Amino acid sequence: MCVFCKIVNNEVPAYTIYEDDDFIAFLDISQATIGHTLIVPKKHYPNIYSLDDVIAGKLGKLSVLLANHLKEKLKTDHMNIITNAGELAGQTVNHFHLHLIPRYINDGMIFKFNRNELSEKEFKKLHNLLKK
Ligand code: 5GP
Ligand code: ZN
Repeated sequence: MCVFCKIVNNEVPAYTIYEDDDFIAFLDISQATIGHTLIVPKKHYPNIYSLDDVIAGKLGKLSVLLANHLKEKLKTDHMNIITNAGELAGQTVNHFHLHLIPRYINDGMIFKFNRNELSEKEFKKLHNLLKK
């Protein structure tokens, strides 16, 4: 059983800040910034690709609720919300989770996008590939 399933089953302790029938949210053991929280479905989904529509919908709503909760309690309205899917993206626990990472001035957290510049031709090709 994975570590988050163990937390869900109360076999591993966690600082739980929210719980309902479908989700648990608790403080990440390694606080990227103060208040770093994980939203975890109680059912074991390996990553975002396997979430069903109902859980995905509830997750959206809950993430807004908890983002606002952290914003108010921690008195910052800056936050990164991220999920890592797969090893290359940095996923280390193979039970879907959403990171809520509140941000503060000089918090030392590095979150940087590459700035790849594509030609118009490359954008068009990519657009054709991806548009639904
Ligand atoms: P990932 O790298 O998979 O996106 O994130 C996994 C996160 O789970 C990490 O930030 C890590 O600190 C956290 N984590 C791993 N094991 C435990 C645990 O036993 N308890 C808690 N609260 N967090 C954990
Ligand atoms: Zn699990």
